[in-house]
Amino acid sequence: MDVRENIEIIIEKDRIIEIGCDLRKVDNSIDCNQMLVSPGFVDPHTHPVFYGSREDEFHMRLQGHSYEEIAALGGGILNSVSDVRKVNESELISRLRTRMDRFLKMGTTTIECKSGYGLNTKSELKSLKAIHEVNMRHHIDMIPTFMGAHAFPEEFKDDHEGYVDLICDEMIPEVSKQGIAIFNDVFCENGYFDVDQTRRILNVGSEYGLIPRLHADEFEDSNSAMIAGEINSITADHLMMVSNDGINALSDNGVIATLLPGTTFFLGKTNYAPYLKLKNAGVEIALATDYNPGSCNIQSMPFIIALSCIYLKMDILDAMKAGTISSARSLMLDKEIGSIEEGKKADLIIWDLNRIEQIPYTINNHPIRHVLKNGVNVFTA
Ligand SMILES: [Zn+2]
Repeated sequence: MDVRENIEIIIEKDRIIEIGCDLRKVDNSIDCNQMLVSPGFVDPHTHPVFYGSREDEFHMRLQGHSYEEIAALGGGILNSVSDVRKVNESELISRLRTRMDRFLKMGTTTIECKSGYGLNTKSELKSLKAIHEVNMRHHIDMIPTFMGAHAFPEEFKDDHEGYVDLICDEMIPEVSKQGIAIFNDVFCENGYFDVDQTRRILNVGSEYGLIPRLHADEFEDSNSAMIAGEINSITADHLMMVSNDGINALSDNGVIATLLPGTTFFLGKTNYAPYLKLKNAGVEIALATDYNPGSCNIQSMPFIIALSCIYLKMDILDAMKAGTISSARSLMLDKEIGSIEEGKKADLIIWDLNRIEQIPYTINNHPIRHVLKNGVNVFTA
């Protein structure tokens, strides 16, 4: 990725067809004089299918309770699970649609969306159906991931293997039959899904055509990056506590590391993922928001870019690449989106800025003038 000046971009229907200087006149044009044009952001890790917000837990954390302690008191993921099980599909759809409107305004043109607050067959399917319904009618492109393995629901708290059986024997076959998910994700972490359970869930998913991705080594080194390498997961996400062996496993197997600095920031922690170690080992880096009601109420990719520059010490061009083409690659969409190239979809942000260095500098004020999705101007400030 590089920065070019005095360029014209010709769009026909939904595609970029020509890039260069002094190109032909067109009917409709947007004057981008003194403006920056970037690819639309691709956010490859979000949990947007929930109902109520969880600001009470946020305040408990500020008073010194840890995320793990709050989860043990019945808060955390299980709090959102009881909500999602109660509400009907149309209520869930309405909340999800509003959230997608906001993502689009902040320049996200493609977004991965996980289920995982249902944790039974009916409510996981309801969540994936909600993603499908919103995606059909919204400009943003939503890429669905089944995440029944997000936590153990209350009714299986003493029978973890029973829940893994339910995921493998009932949920995955039904999700596959309905064709409403592309990826299969597991929260592989001590206290959540262990390495053997993770391997089983992802392998069964693969047999049913669901592509593996993984929450790995967030709270401690749980050997989950090793598993990501072993099963050829497309990406391993979080990685705050990844070991050197884990980094080598990612590098040796071409697994993308999706880093989520918003979560570390929102939780008030300081253990950011070891970006430089991963980069020096040759691991490709993607960036995502990890938007969810508990550990990261952040929807803005420009803010994530700023956090990455400040805390991960990323160069701005590397951060923009990680939030566009590399995140597109983690969703296996890099042939279609994620960069400004002839033949690709015209998913673009027109910024009221003239230097890329200004994106992280304007940290809480995203000067986005237009967002184009599939060649259509879908947002004007
Ligand atoms: Zn997550």
